[in-house]
This record gives sequence, C-alpha cells and structure tokens, in this order.
Amino acid sequence: MAIHEKALIEAERLRQHDSLTLEGVDVSGHWNTMIRPRTLRNYHEDFEKTLQRYPGAENVHRCWQCGSCTNSCTMYAQNLQFNPRYWIYLSRLGLTDELIKDKDIIWQCVSCNKCTHICPRDVRPEGVMKALLHWMEDQGITPKSPSTIFDEEFTAQIYKRGRIEDTHVLLGFFHKTKQSLFQPWLLEFSKRMSKRLPVKHSLRMGLNAVLRPKTKSWGNTGEVLSRYVSQQKESHRD
Ligand code: SF4
Ligand code: SF4
Repeated sequence: MAIHEKALIEAERLRQHDSLTLEGVDVSGHWNTMIRPRTLRNYHEDFEKTLQRYPGAENVHRCWQCGSCTNSCTMYAQNLQFNPRYWIYLSRLGLTDELIKDKDIIWQCVSCNKCTHICPRDVRPEGVMKALLHWMEDQGITPKSPSTIFDEEFTAQIYKRGRIEDTHVLLGFFHKTKQSLFQPWLLEFSKRMSKRLPVKHSLRMGLNAVLRPKTKSWGNTGEVLSRYVSQQKESHRD
C-alpha cells in the first residue's frame, strides 16, 4: 500500500517492482513497496532536555505526534522533506545524527506560525525549529546566521552601554559579517534622508553616531541587564 510520508525514507532503502502479480492479484508499483530495515545506535538520551533550554522549545516534550503542524505547514506544502512533526520526533528520541542530515532544510522555516496556532498540545513547533537552528549553530554544525550575528552585536552593545546606538549596531554587524558599508539600500536610504532632513538635524545625527551622547549615562543599566540574563540562563540550566 502507499507509504505515508515516503519522502522521509532514503531512496536506497525503498524497493519496488513496477510490475508484479501475486497469486493472481496485480500489486504493481507502490502496492508492493518494501522498506529495508536499518539500525540506529547513536542517540543522546538527554537531547530533549538540552533542546528545552533554548527559548521556544520548552514544551517539546508535550508533542503527541498528531502531525497537524506538518499538515498545516507553509513549507511542507512546497517541500515534502520539510517536516516539523518528524524533527520533533527525532528530537525527543535524541537522534541528533538524523536531525543533522536535515540541517540544510530546517532553516527554511518562514516563521508563519501556522503550526503553533494549530498544535493541540501547545508545543510551539516554530519555536522548536528556531531552537534546533540555534543548537546547530552552538555546536558548530552550521555557521552562525546573519540574524544570530546581529543579535549578538545588539546584546553586546546593551551589556556595554545599557542601550544601543543604532549606527554602531549596524557598523558592528557589517564588520562581523564582512559586508561593505556601501550597501545599495543604505546609500538609497541616506540619499532620501538627506533630501528630507534639515541640514542641522543631519549634522546632529552624524555627531551622535561618533560621540554617542545617547548612551553616555546608561552604563549601570548594562550591568544590571547582564546580571539578569546570567541569572535567567542559570535558572534554565536547572
Ligand atoms: S501539532 Fe503539536 S502535538 Fe501535533 S505533531 Fe505537531 S507539535 Fe506534535
Ligand atoms: S512556522 Fe515554520 S514550521 Fe511552522 S508552519 Fe510556518 S514554516 Fe512551517
């Protein structure tokens, strides 16, 4: 009979005769499909707990595998290998090697949150997808995404100054991602700004970027925030 979620099975494990008759019954094509068994030995017992320490994956243990997330998923409609239900299943079993095989697909989640709204168990699959991506980045399995690098720059400035200076966040981000300052969109943005803003205001913005007067007296706030985040991380480790 037809196999549900056949896209999850490696092609070499599927055996099928295009034309086959058994005891007078035509079982050609998918009616005679067989799957070669396999043995998976490498699993991590505590992986579910590890994943739950990442924001968004706290409820992964609640999944009862109904498949509603996958059925409603925007990306599954485009690509049958994009399967949040399956990745949650692998996460709960600690089959990290199998998860890593899909490292080039999981990031395609578009955060539409259809899965989150439909899940009857409040698992928040979208959050689980993000947690898996961050776990892979932390393990060095995938390179840090530009959004992670932006977050790090943003957070570093908050710790250092208590709040951010927009221009400095952008400069730091471009530097860390080895991007040129002369981005077409930034040039266009500056051109439009210069047309509309009074010269005095533009000059003040330029000076602000260099002198950072906005963040001068926020140093203590940075320390407080830094302490708070450390405490939160500690409590997630318990
Ligand atoms: S909808 Fe929720 S409970 Fe159902 S498989 Fe997806 S995550 Fe699990
Ligand atoms: S948030 Fe991601 S996993 Fe959830 S339905 Fe949208 S694309 Fe699919």
